[in-house]
Amino acid sequence: SFDECYIKSVMRTIPDWPEPGVMFRDITPLFKDPKALRMIADSFIQRYIDTEVTHIASIDARGFLFGSIMAYQLNIPLVLVRKKGKLPGKTIHREYALEYGTAAVEMQVDAVSKGDKVLIFDDLIATGGTILAASTIIKELGAEVYEAAALIDLPDLKGSELIQQAGIPVYTLLAYE
Ligand code: IMP
Repeated sequence: SFDECYIKSVMRTIPDWPEPGVMFRDITPLFKDPKALRMIADSFIQRYIDTEVTHIASIDARGFLFGSIMAYQLNIPLVLVRKKGKLPGKTIHREYALEYGTAAVEMQVDAVSKGDKVLIFDDLIATGGTILAASTIIKELGAEVYEAAALIDLPDLKGSELIQQAGIPVYTLLAYE
């Protein structure tokens, strides 16, 4: 079963990266530790197996790592939410505010459609901007957002609260205050 202490012991925090004042939660050690990775994957699979979820929408780039494991185990389609300019063909993008400037995420227009119940998946929720932009696109394509899931929540930044206020349930396995 899920052991929060064990996962936190494998995780790494890099102070002042990518800029001064930021405590960057580095998940890369989890991928070097099969026990940790399996524990995380199994927890998410437990939650979403035998649910109505029809698609995993995983977010560029660390969301892809978990998203593909989930899609394989749940045997459902994986679709990509990428940073703008990476996807070929007909796409739709939405911008969102960063502390300084803006960013944009993008999906292919045929990724999801009406009737789909989409689970959005990323590694970490900070301000919630990325997941909210992804959910806007998914809804504009006519699909429903089932839930937003991430390994880590940073509750002080209130992103998960904001996502829930937008009517989207949020599920995370770890929090860093
Ligand atoms: P948000 O849009 O502010 O919620 O930021 C979430 C996005 O930024 C996710 O795609 C994360 O991968 C990335 N991110 C922000 N802070 C961290 C961190 O401390 N560790 C890893 N990823 C982070």
